[in-house]
Amino acid sequence: MQTVGIIGAGIMGAGIAQTVASKGMDVILSDVSVELAEKGKAGIAKGLSKLVAKEKLTQADADALLGRITPVGDYATMTKADLIIEAATEREDIKAKIFEAAGEVLGPDAILASNTSSIPITRMAAGSPDPTRFCGLHFFNPVPVMGLVEVIPGLATSQDTIDKMKAFGEALGKTVVIAGDAPGFVVNRILCPMLNEAIFVLGEGLASVEDIDAGCKIGLNHPMGPLTLCDFVGLDTLYEIMKVFHATTGDPKYRPAPLLQKYVEAGWYGRKSGKGFYDYSGEKPVPSR
Ligand code: NAD
Repeated sequence: MQTVGIIGAGIMGAGIAQTVASKGMDVILSDVSVELAEKGKAGIAKGLSKLVAKEKLTQADADALLGRITPVGDYATMTKADLIIEAATEREDIKAKIFEAAGEVLGPDAILASNTSSIPITRMAAGSPDPTRFCGLHFFNPVPVMGLVEVIPGLATSQDTIDKMKAFGEALGKTVVIAGDAPGFVVNRILCPMLNEAIFVLGEGLASVEDIDAGCKIGLNHPMGPLTLCDFVGLDTLYEIMKVFHATTGDPKYRPAPLLQKYVEAGWYGRKSGKGFYDYSGEKPVPSR
């Protein structure tokens, strides 16, 4: 891969852009406007400047990495991309429109991949220009740090596409696992119901935010508590994921916790909005209620 188009410059799109550019590839980074794509790039620059301050990266390498990322407001230049990765909001209607528009610029050998957390790949592939060149490519947050990528073939995905996506993930220095096309694939199938359950526990008043997090962190030997992780993931994203699990399977065990819905309706999305289960306005996060 020489040039990678990325659609969506939020938490994941920016993280993928940074990781891809760090391996010497060119990135065309888009969002609903060039301003939002530039905001995504500015976030990357901010993160890199911290690495430079800690002497984990040289200023020259940071500048070179940023120089390989071009923010854009439309997909016109993605005709030269070998791979287009969709990393936009977790809503199927939004993604369907993106695939339609991306299909108009997708090169004859290029691959279209989605970073969706939960939406069925086969269903989205059916609305893409060539389902043999469509697959799920699921990164983990924060992308530059996390070492795993799931490759999720849809029913029609060709072996060539699977092989190329596996090689791409490995070229980024990630371990690649091939996961089946069922809601949440493998890792989120296990993780998201656990996060949702932690919110049920909070909503039922069984323990405080801090005690739920301390309990799981220490008792399960996890690096962070589930409510802290919810705030990293984004409560809006988790809510959409649980709705897809529930709607796709019809299984009531996947219904989103009422408190999750309430936080999303309040605009408390987690770190990205400044408040979720914790409030991030001060020097140290504190429980928001
Ligand atoms: P986010 O809210 O941080 O960013 C989404 C971005 O998509 C926003 O910048 C938004 O402006 C943009 N967008 C919306 N509509 C668009 C359109 N039509 N065209 C281009 N851009 C558009 O969300 P995120 O956490 O980065 O999630 C993005 C995708 O990655 C989702 O599918 C999510 O399920 C998946 N994902 C998220 C995580 C996580 O931990 N947050 C992990 C793995 C996968």
